[in-house]
Amino acid sequence: MSHKILLLPGDGIGPEIVAEARRVLDVLCECHGLRCELEEAPIGGAGYDAAGQPLPAATLDLARAADAVLLGAVGGPRYDALPREVRPERGLLAIRAELGLFGNLRPAILFPQLAAASALRPEVVSGLDLLIVRELTGGIYFGEPRGVRTLPDGQRQGFDTELYSESEIVRITRLACRAAEQRQRRLCSVDKANVLESSGLWREVVEGVVEQEFPHIELSHMYVDNAAMQLVRAPKQFDVIVTGNLFGDILSDCAAQLTGSIGMLPSASLDEQGKGLYEPVHGSAPDIAGQDRANPLATILSVAMMLRYSLGAGELAERVEAAVAGVLADGLRTADLQGGTRRVGTREMGEAVAERLRAG
Ligand code: NAD
Repeated sequence: MSHKILLLPGDGIGPEIVAEARRVLDVLCECHGLRCELEEAPIGGAGYDAAGQPLPAATLDLARAADAVLLGAVGGPRYDALPREVRPERGLLAIRAELGLFGNLRPAILFPQLAAASALRPEVVSGLDLLIVRELTGGIYFGEPRGVRTLPDGQRQGFDTELYSESEIVRITRLACRAAEQRQRRLCSVDKANVLESSGLWREVVEGVVEQEFPHIELSHMYVDNAAMQLVRAPKQFDVIVTGNLFGDILSDCAAQLTGSIGMLPSASLDEQGKGLYEPVHGSAPDIAGQDRANPLATILSVAMMLRYSLGAGELAERVEAAVAGVLADGLRTADLQGGTRRVGTREMGEAVAERLRAG
């Protein structure tokens, strides 16, 4: 079966890093039996330039028809003065909403060769490999009512509503369990059930789904305040964390920082069928765009996630991850990474990963 993959390079360093991801996909097709058709379309500022919209209708049609989408990054100073509704970031929010991507997967992986970049001691963090599964379309960021009202005594009061329905909790739990099945089969659900009603329901529903559908997954629960503490105290205790939108937003950035290397972090946003949008966590880095200085590894690791979660090719995902570990072990470093023995640019880093894949 041939997979349809849509590439959305976007703005800034986006085209440079997506070109290296494309090189990796080409080698997987040439040498390792992957079958895919690649298409490319504009999004973000590039979408605005091409069609007056950050998410052109033609791009959305291609995304709907694709099995998976790989995005570079959007945004840049050229577009900062545009009206809010056509700003590049709108393209990103729109494609996530249009594709119904409710589950966000953010791994925090620290390759041992980069352990010195972390703010934590190497023995605490070296070899870290955890995955945060964050609910992305519900919770307090979307709950109604919300607003600012005036109280009888004349002062203003701001309010938001944390809402989670059973079906929303069920689907994110299933997604997290499926991800855990491909890892160490340990799931930690993070909530604030000692204080919040919505968290009480969250905990009950997560427990029910795991008991009935995934009895082989080892489930634990943790309050969010403790989870934040444990992430910086002993992060290697975690395999997969599942949590709501607000807690996931905060914990995933905290976990990302444990690795100390923004150019190394991939992510995925998935729908109920496992179709996904894959992208590096970093932005479009306009300060280094067009200079062959961007680290392409977060985007290449996003390809690995795509292989694992949308294309059913876990073995190829492992090959890509091993190739990335291999070039780091060879001492190659882009300018954002510490240590190593040889400074390389975007293209040379991509070529080195492709070469390793070709060789093995
Ligand atoms: P950024 O992530 O683009 O850059 C922050 C710093 O990290 C910069 O110094 C940059 O050079 C460096 N950096 C980022 N990625 C790198 C890589 N792959 N290799 C080497 N260095 C890298 O964040 P920012 O500067 O706050 O935002 C710049 C633009 O990106 C803004 O327009 C913002 O809106 C946009 N943005 C887009 C996304 C996205 O597309 N998902 C996410 C965040 C920010």
